[in-house]
Amino acid sequence: MAPQFRAQRLAGLVQSDIRRMTRECDRVGGINLGQGVCDLPTPPLVRDGAIRAIQEQRSLYSYPEGIAELREAIAAKLARDNGFENVDPSKEIVVTVGATGAFMAAVHALLDPGDGILLFEPYYGYHLNGALLAGLVPEYCTLAAPEFAVTEEKLRAAISDKTRAICVCTPANPSGKMFSRGELELIDRIASEFDLLVITDEIYESITYEDREHISPASVGSLADRSVTIMGLSKTFSITGWRLGYVYAKEALAQPIALAGDLLVVCAPTPLQHGVAEGFRAPVSFYEEMRADYAKKRSMICGALESAGMKPIVPQGAYYVLADVSSLGFATAKEAAMHILEERKVASVPGSSFYSGDSGEGLVRFCFAVEEPVLAEACDRLTR
Ligand code: PLP
Repeated sequence: MAPQFRAQRLAGLVQSDIRRMTRECDRVGGINLGQGVCDLPTPPLVRDGAIRAIQEQRSLYSYPEGIAELREAIAAKLARDNGFENVDPSKEIVVTVGATGAFMAAVHALLDPGDGILLFEPYYGYHLNGALLAGLVPEYCTLAAPEFAVTEEKLRAAISDKTRAICVCTPANPSGKMFSRGELELIDRIASEFDLLVITDEIYESITYEDREHISPASVGSLADRSVTIMGLSKTFSITGWRLGYVYAKEALAQPIALAGDLLVVCAPTPLQHGVAEGFRAPVSFYEEMRADYAKKRSMICGALESAGMKPIVPQGAYYVLADVSSLGFATAKEAAMHILEERKVASVPGSSFYSGDSGEGLVRFCFAVEEPVLAEACDRLTR
């Protein structure tokens, strides 16, 4: 018999429904609104900056915390967009291998196996599975559609004597929820009462609707001292395959994260860091155009879902929409998503992928970060 090797830490972990739906979508030749691939063109500023860095042989390992130019550009951006003045780019910023690499480095650097990490659900699957891989114990605070409001009662009830961290994803995948100032003040109070680490995921900070303001949790109350702010570049610059993201945290948190990042992957891809450093020079109009583009796509998909009898929970931010498919009459969200794929040739993700219990069974998620003609065809198929 061939030797068997599979670590205990993978027990119970499987490929996500998102990957499975992508495969099913390929099988039927459908349009993939399941996975958040974001296949829009990369801004020329970013693309050409990376090409130049490769041509000029700026291709060696960088510092584990990233190249200085990029960290300086990030510090300026954090002051401009997030209200973080006086960030020290040499000690408080770490460039990472995607927001995913940032999350993995943070949980390995700052938490121990057996520690509880509180996730608001619907959650993003990598937060759960990344936490499990690191040996953490997931705990859940279930937020009810369509408001997904956080209340003190719910939050307190979700905390146990194991809880060491809370994960806040705003704007959230899959719900599009953006945490309000009041909710963040509540998290500030509870986190200091229970001495919790707060890990934020703000990868969709630039994709917001109706001029709603993105509030970085670390800008509220005393959260800066106990927060690891994770930002991404995959979505803003449509470079999901470049694998770049970053962390902002006070030195006492940022330095262990840099060490864990170094031990896990040494550094993020250097020439691509140069490209992104250029990208931070993009004018404000770049972000405004991106928002207008997504706002148009949001109304296209929400309109189509409404006409197809799948009530959309209109997102406040990010580029996903959860739709209530209970009227289709399926017992599970998986059956509903497979039916939509087989009948309409449009892939979505079952809502059950985002909840620990059965709260997602009446929901499916569509991603609208695709080129407009592709989205128009998908909308046509859904309503036909
Ligand atoms: N965080 C959230 C909430 C996401 O939705 C995604 C991608 O879908 C990621 C992180 C992945 O980010 P990155 O490509 O920077 O690893």
